[in-house]
Amino acid sequence: MFSAYDNQNNKISINDAVAGEFYICPTCKKRLYVKAGGRKKPHFCHYRNESCIDYWKYDESDWSNKWKSSFSNEEVEIIHHEHHIDIEVKNNLGIMFSSSSMHWETFIEKTDYMLRNINNAMWLFNLTDLYKKGTIEPKRNCIIWRGIWKMFYDYQYLENAVWIVIEIAVKGVSWFGILKDLDRSYNDKTLYVLRWLKEDQFRRYFNDIADKKDPELPYKVEEERQRKLKEEANEKERIEREKHEAAERIEREKLERQQEEKEGQPVLLRKQKVDEEKKGGQQENKKQNERVYIPERLLDPEMKQMSDRLNELNRLNRFSEFSDLAMIWYEKYGFAWTYSPYNHEN
Ligand SMILES: [Zn+2]
Repeated sequence: MFSAYDNQNNKISINDAVAGEFYICPTCKKRLYVKAGGRKKPHFCHYRNESCIDYWKYDESDWSNKWKSSFSNEEVEIIHHEHHIDIEVKNNLGIMFSSSSMHWETFIEKTDYMLRNINNAMWLFNLTDLYKKGTIEPKRNCIIWRGIWKMFYDYQYLENAVWIVIEIAVKGVSWFGILKDLDRSYNDKTLYVLRWLKEDQFRRYFNDIADKKDPELPYKVEEERQRKLKEEANEKERIEREKHEAAERIEREKLERQQEEKEGQPVLLRKQKVDEEKKGGQQENKKQNERVYIPERLLDPEMKQMSDRLNELNRLNRFSEFSDLAMIWYEKYGFAWTYSPYNHEN
C-alpha cells in the first residue's frame, strides 16, 4: 500500500512515512506498519493475522510506486467502498497498474469497479520484463506476443469501455502503446497498437481524457495535415511530370523531323486549302495546314510515277497539264501534291 492515514487523519504517502509511527488503513481503519528493508521498497502493511476488508491484490512494484509518487496525495489510492483506485486524474479518469497477468474475472471485476465509481477507466500494464525476456516484440503498429495473457485475448468483450495501455521501457525510455478501439484487430499473438507515445505525450493523453477532450484529436489533426501535404506534393509532382513529358515529346518530335529531313526519305506533303468553289463552298478542311510525312516505301509505284510526272510538268512550266494532273492526284489521294524529292535535278 502506497498511502495511509496518520493519527491526525492526514493522508501520508509511503515516501513521507516514518517507521514506528502510527498509521491506519484507509479502507478498514486497522493499524498499519511501515515495512522496509526487504527486497521491496518500503510499503504500508497490515499486521500479521489482521485481514483487511479489501481482499484485492494491488500492484506494489517499484514501477507502480514510482508512478504514484508522480501524482499528488489527493489523486493516489482513492477509496470507494472496500477497495481503491490506484490513481484518479481530475476525478474523471481512474488508472489501475499491473505488472502481471490476472484472472479474467479479476480484470472484469476491477474494471467494473472503476467504471461504477469514475467516468473513465484505464489500465496501465508494465511489460518491460517481458520485453527484456524476448517474449514480446514491439513493432510499429503492434506487438507480437508469444503466449499472450488470456485477459488480453478476451479484451474484445470490454467493448471499448476502458483504455488499455502497455508500457515498455526500451534502453531507459518508456514507450506507451495505446490499445483502445482495437478490440477486433488481434489474433492469438498480436496486439495492435493504436499509437506509441512517449511519457510526456502519454501524460497529455490521459489528461485530455480526464479533461473530457478527445485524446486522439491532436493526432487526428496531425494526420490530416500530413495527408494534405502529401496530396499537395503528389499534385505538384504530377504537374512537373506532365511538363517534363511534354518537353520530352516536343524534343523527340523535333529530332525525328530533323532525322527524316536529313535522310531525305519521307516526302513532305502539305494538305492544301480545299478549293471552295469546286467543293461548293464547303468549309475549309480543318487539317489544311497539317504537315504529313510519307516515307518513300509507302508510295506505291503508281503514286511515284504520277509524282514524277507532276514534277516534270512543273519543271517544264506546263501549267495547264500540271494543274489537271494535280487535280487527279488530289481526288485520288485526298491531299494535294506539293513536293517530291524524286525529281530534284541532280
Ligand atoms: Zn485495511
